[in-house]
Amino acid sequence: MADKIQVCIIGSGNWGSAIAKIVGANATKFPEFDDRVNMYVYEEMIDGKKLTEIINTTHENIKYLPGHQLPPNVVAVPDIVQAAATADILVFVVPHQFVKNFCASLLGKIKPTAQAISLIKGFDKAEGGGIDLISHIITRHLKIPCSVLMGANLANEVAEGKFCETTIGCRDIKYGKVLKDIFQADHFRVSVVDDVDATEVCGALKNIVACGAGFMDGLNSGDNAKAAVIRIGLMEMIRFVDIFYPGSKLGTFFESCGVADLITTCYGGRNRKVSEAFVKTGKSIAELEKEMLGGQKLQGPFTAEEVNYMLKNKNMEDKFPLFTSIHKICIGELKATQFVESIRNQPDHV
Ligand code: NAD
Ligand code: 13P
Ligand code: CA
Repeated sequence: MADKIQVCIIGSGNWGSAIAKIVGANATKFPEFDDRVNMYVYEEMIDGKKLTEIINTTHENIKYLPGHQLPPNVVAVPDIVQAAATADILVFVVPHQFVKNFCASLLGKIKPTAQAISLIKGFDKAEGGGIDLISHIITRHLKIPCSVLMGANLANEVAEGKFCETTIGCRDIKYGKVLKDIFQADHFRVSVVDDVDATEVCGALKNIVACGAGFMDGLNSGDNAKAAVIRIGLMEMIRFVDIFYPGSKLGTFFESCGVADLITTCYGGRNRKVSEAFVKTGKSIAELEKEMLGGQKLQGPFTAEEVNYMLKNKNMEDKFPLFTSIHKICIGELKATQFVESIRNQPDHV
């Protein structure tokens, strides 16, 4: 029993809860994994009851993934250290703005042999004008390796058991097989690649492009214009990886984490939805996030800001006109109606 691989999920939002359905089922199914899966839940009160108590009695995360039963072996734990202390695999799946705080709480409190995997799509600002990958932050703070899982995986569809693919980026082939076992399901097909940084960067950047797709929808610009945003966005993602993560593989963009996630997010994601409403209502992104998402968090506008922080510092905004104009629209420096104008003369067209 003591030798069994213990898995802890850190996060219980929309995606964290959806992935808990799969991880919980696999932990029961495979003898090498301990059946019990701890899920760290950021405690909150719902109608006078603790969310952890609701999850542990009804097996439903009524706030972030209503209508779905979590496996009973997934146990909600409100104390992150208690949840993670004996885990061999730490699955990080929290909105990216919170990850550093969680790492700080876990420092020195986890097994030194533990490994992490990040399902988080986003970056953080680094000192000196650059950006940090979330997996690098986890590794640096906790001194453990960190793989990534990114893909065309709208959480509600995954929870409903609809077919999709995903990409695990892992440097160690043997360990990649362990990760595949705990995440793969009949409807959730996993490919493992070793191009870890590019896999993660794809997952973060596509959220910026999704905001652009939403602006086009809000402007009623039509499907051709939206396709142009997706294409230009893909080219800027490739350019970004080329410049800042040299040695990455072009093939990674054709995995689920690349073009597939870009497409699904630009059609069915929260970033798209809120960005469309931003254009149509004139309300701020923060206001709409609160109004429309029931406590779920947007990653695109933050990521656009983090990327712009670096591009501005490096005097490279003009190489990424789409990312730059999306950021400027999000912060009100540019009107959404100027979006088309701002990408009309992007490098390929002049
Ligand atoms: P979410 O958007 O549902 O966010 C809600 C979560 O944030 C809850 O667990 C809540 O407890 C937590 N939270 C709220 N305020 C907090 C605070 N002050 N401190 C700490 N935690 C707080 O979360 P999600 O959808 O699970 O997304 C997590 C990551 O997974 C994101 O990076 C996202 O891009 C990525 N992702 C999401 C989806 C999806 O369809 N939802 C799919 C793939 C990847
Ligand atoms: P949104 O955060 O825009 O909903 O995107 C979810 C996602 O990452 C799907 O793969
Ligand atoms: Ca088991």
